[in-house]
Amino acid sequence: MLKLFDVAIIGAGPGGYVAAIRSAQLGLNTVCIDEWENTKGKASLGGTCLNVGCIPSKALLESSENFYRSVHKFPAHGIKVEGVSIDVSVMISRKDKIVTTFTGGIAALFKKNKVTSIHGKAKLLKHGKQEETWKIEIDNKKELETVYAKHVIVATGSTPRQLLSTPIDNVRILDNSGALDLTERPERLGVIGAGVIGLEMGSVWRRLGSEVTILEAMPEFLMAADEQIAKEARKIFSKEPGLSIQTGIEIKEIKTNKNNVIVTFTDNSGKSQKLEVDKLIVAVGRVPNTAGLGLTDLDLKVDERGYIVVDDFCCTDLPNLYAVGDVVRGPMLAHKASEEGVAVAEMIAAIEKGNTRKPEKVNFNTIPRVIYTSPEIAWVGKTEQELKSANISYKVGQFPFIANGRARALGDTVGFVKVLADATSDRILGVHMIGPYVSELISEAVVAMEFSASSEDIARIIHAHPSLSEVLHEAALGVDKRALHI
Ligand SMILES: Cc1cc2nc3c(=O)[nH]c(=O)nc-3n(C[C@H](O)[C@H](O)[C@H](O)COP(=O)(O)OP(=O)(O)OC[C@H]3O[C@@H](n4cnc5c(N)ncnc54)[C@H](O)[C@@H]3O)c2cc1C
Repeated sequence: MLKLFDVAIIGAGPGGYVAAIRSAQLGLNTVCIDEWENTKGKASLGGTCLNVGCIPSKALLESSENFYRSVHKFPAHGIKVEGVSIDVSVMISRKDKIVTTFTGGIAALFKKNKVTSIHGKAKLLKHGKQEETWKIEIDNKKELETVYAKHVIVATGSTPRQLLSTPIDNVRILDNSGALDLTERPERLGVIGAGVIGLEMGSVWRRLGSEVTILEAMPEFLMAADEQIAKEARKIFSKEPGLSIQTGIEIKEIKTNKNNVIVTFTDNSGKSQKLEVDKLIVAVGRVPNTAGLGLTDLDLKVDERGYIVVDDFCCTDLPNLYAVGDVVRGPMLAHKASEEGVAVAEMIAAIEKGNTRKPEKVNFNTIPRVIYTSPEIAWVGKTEQELKSANISYKVGQFPFIANGRARALGDTVGFVKVLADATSDRILGVHMIGPYVSELISEAVVAMEFSASSEDIARIIHAHPSLSEVLHEAALGVDKRALHI
C-alpha cells in the first residue's frame, strides 16, 4: 500500500520532533524518520540534544556542581560534610535515566499527536511519476521501506567536527558522546576548543577534581560573547583551582599511548609546549550532517561549509523541501532548531489551506545564548563590539551581583548584568549577563526585546525583592544613570 503523507520530517532532534508535533497538531498527516540508536542499539528519539547534548550535559553539570558545593561552599554555611566522594557510575546512570525518560517522552508525544514514527536512515529521492510528491527510502538495517510525502523537512542536525589527524576513539580521544560517558574521573583532562561544549564538559570534570587544561586556537576567549563579559569570565575562570585556559595556540601533534595522550602545540608566544593528559576531549565545533541523504543526486544547493542553503523561511531551492536546525545557517542551538521547526510546520499548514499570507520569520536577534559554566553566561541581542562596528550610538547600564541581597544570600556574588540601549530611542539592543542563574534571568531580557521594550520599560517594572532579577532592574535603571543600590 502506498504510504503517502502530507509532511515527512527527516530527523527527530529538537528541530524535527517539534516540527512533527506542530504539523500533526495542525491536522497534517505526518511521519518523522530518525536513525539514532543509543549505546544499547535501541532507537532513541530526540537527536543530539536529548541523547548526547543539552540534556545529559546539564544533568552532569548539576551533579558535579552539587559535589563542588558540598566540598567548597557548604563550610561557609557552617555545614560540615566529611568524606565527600563521587560515585561516577551513579552520576552517569542518573544522567542516562534522565535521557531515557525524555527520549521515551517524545515517543509518547508522537503517539498522542498521531505522528507516525519510523526508525531508520532516510534517503531522499524525487518521485518519478508524481512530481509533486517526494519519495523517501528508509533503511533500518533489515529492510528498505518507502514512503511518499508532499512536503519534506530536513532536520538532520550536526556531528562533531574531527581533527583530521586525530580520529575520535572515545577511549582516550573523546567527542561529546565519550565525554558524557566516562566511567571514572580522569586525573588530567585536556580539552581542545574553548567553545560552549568544551567549557561545559571541562567544567563537569574540573568540579569533580580533574586537572583541566583547555587549549583554544582563537586569539581571544569566547569571541562570540560581549568582550567585557568574555574578559570577566576569563578572569573568574583563571582563579579556579585545577583549570588552565590557553588561547592563541596551534596544535602540532596529538599522540596516544596506552595510558595517556600527549598534545604538542605552540603557545601564543610561538613557544613549543607539551601537554600530557589521561583523556582528551575534542570540541572544535560541529558540522552539518547531510551524509547519505542523497542531496547530490537531487542537485540541492549546499554552501562551502556543507550547510543546506535556505532562505529566511527555511525553504530550499527545491519545491516543498525545507531544512531547519543545525543543518542550516544560524546558531547551532536546540531552541533555534525548534522555532524553525514550528515556523515551517505552520507555513506548510497555511499552504495546504490555501492561505497566501507571508509566513513568520524566526527572529535571530532575540535568540538567547547560554553557557552553563559556573558562573553562568547568557546574552541576547547585540554585543558592544557589534554596535561599535555598525556605528550605532548606545547607552550602557551595568549592575554587579555583589550588590544584590539574593546573590549575597546564595553566596554567588561574582558577575554583573549589562543593558545596552539605543542612545536616541532607548530601545534595548542587547543584554549581557554573567553570574548566578543567568540562564533563567535572560528570559526577561528576551521578552523585553521581542516586544521592542526600552530600558525605561524594564526600569519601571516592579521586580520581586530580594531576587536576582533586581540586578537586571538596576542595570536598566543604570542606563539612565539612576541605579539605586550602587
Ligand atoms: C554536548 C552538547 C551540549 C549542548 N548543549 C546545548 C544547550 O545547552 N542548549 C542548546 O540550545 N543547544 C545545545 N547543544 C546543541 C544542540 O544539541 C543542537 O543545536 C540541536 O540538537 C540541533 O537540533 P537538530 O534538530 O537540528 O539536530 P539534532 O539534534 O542533531 O538531530 C538530528 C537527528 O537527525 C537524525 N538523522 C540524521 N540524518 C538522518 C537520516 N539520513 N535519516 C534519519 N535520521 C537522520 C540524527 O540521528 C538525529 O537524531 C549542545 C550540543 C552538544 C553536543
